[in-house]
Amino acid sequence: MCADKRYFDVAIVGGGPAGLAAAIYAARARRKTMILDKALAGGQVMFTALIENYPGFPKGSSGMELADLMAQQARNLGVPIEMEEARGIERDKKDIILRTDKGEIVAKALIIATGSSWKKLNVPGEAELSGRGVSYCGTCDAMLYRDKEIVVVGGGDTAIDEALFLTRFVKRLHIVHRRGELRAEKILQERAFANEKIGFIWDSVVTKIVGDQKVSGVELLNKKTNETSVFPTEGVFIFVGNEPNTGFVPEMISKTGEGQIIVNIKMETNAPGIYAAGDVRAESIRQVVSAAGDGATAAWYADKYLDTLE
Ligand SMILES: Cc1cc2nc3c(=O)[nH]c(=O)nc-3n(C[C@H](O)[C@H](O)[C@H](O)COP(=O)(O)OP(=O)(O)OC[C@H]3O[C@@H](n4cnc5c(N)ncnc54)[C@H](O)[C@@H]3O)c2cc1C
Repeated sequence: MCADKRYFDVAIVGGGPAGLAAAIYAARARRKTMILDKALAGGQVMFTALIENYPGFPKGSSGMELADLMAQQARNLGVPIEMEEARGIERDKKDIILRTDKGEIVAKALIIATGSSWKKLNVPGEAELSGRGVSYCGTCDAMLYRDKEIVVVGGGDTAIDEALFLTRFVKRLHIVHRRGELRAEKILQERAFANEKIGFIWDSVVTKIVGDQKVSGVELLNKKTNETSVFPTEGVFIFVGNEPNTGFVPEMISKTGEGQIIVNIKMETNAPGIYAAGDVRAESIRQVVSAAGDGATAAWYADKYLDTLE
C-alpha cells in the first residue's frame, strides 16, 4: 500500500447534511467510509442561525447545533471526517481515485456532496447584515418577514418564483432588476405582473445595503438616470444565481449548463459507482431535509453497487 494512498469502500466529498447522512447510511451498511471536507463539517448549516423546517426540532435548531449533532452521529459510527479539499477524480478500472490537496483516496464508490453557493452582490453591508435582513432563501426565511415590506433582487426564474412564494407572507415586495424586462419564463412573469403585492424597480442595481444591527434600506443606482437613492425596507432577498461546487468534477460526469451534476432517482451519475447528493445535483430543492434524503439514497444505492463488485 502506497504511503499517501488511503483505501475505502465509500468516499464522500463534502460534510454537509447530504454527505453526513450518506456517511451514516454507508457506515451502518458496514462499508468502510470516510468524509473529506475542505472546511469544518456541517456545510451551509453552520452559517444558519435558526433552522425551523428540519423535522424533529419543534422549536427549531441553531444551525451549528444541528451540524454538530449530524457530524457526531457519523463519527460515532466510526467515520473519519478529514479536513481536505478534493481536486480531481480519475478512474483506474473499477477503482475511483480522488485527488486531494493531501494525497490520494482510492474508493470503490464515491458520493459527491459538495453543495452550492449563492452568488453574492458583493456590495457594502451585504456580508455584515447577512442573516439580519439579508437572505438568499425564501423557503428558509419567509416566516420572518410576515406583513413586512421587502426587496427581492434579480429577474430570473428563481427570483420570480421566490418572489411569488414570498407574497404569501409579506405585506408588499419590490423586485429590483438591472434591466427593463425580466428574464424569467413568461408564465412566471405573468403571475408576477398580476400579483398586487409585487412592485418593480427597473433598470436599477443595489449598490449598498443600509442598516446598523439590521437592514433598514437599500441604496439603489438607476442605470438609466445615474441617480442614487435609498429605498427603505426591512428585508433583502438576493436571487442572482447559484453556483454548484463542481470545479473539481471532470467532464466524464454529466452536468447541466450551470454545472450541477445530473443524477437519476437513485442519485447515480452517468459514471458507475459515482453518486451526487444534495444542493450540488440538478433539480435539488436546496434544503437540509432534501440534502439528507439524497445522501441516504446515494449511500443506499452505493451499497447495492458494491454488492455487484463482490
Ligand atoms: C443562510 C442560509 C440559510 C439557510 N436556511 C435553511 C433553512 O432554514 N432550512 C433548510 O432546510 N435549508 C436552509 N438552507 C439551505 C441548506 O443549508 C442547504 O440546502 C444544505 O446545507 C445543503 O446541504 P449539502 O450537504 O448538499 O451542501 P452544503 O451544506 O453546502 O455542504 C457542502 C460541503 O462540501 C464542502 N466542499 C465543497 N467543495 C469541496 C471540495 N472541493 N472538497 C471538499 N469539500 C468541499 C463544503 O465545505 C461544505 O461543507 C440555508 C442556506 C443558507 C446559505
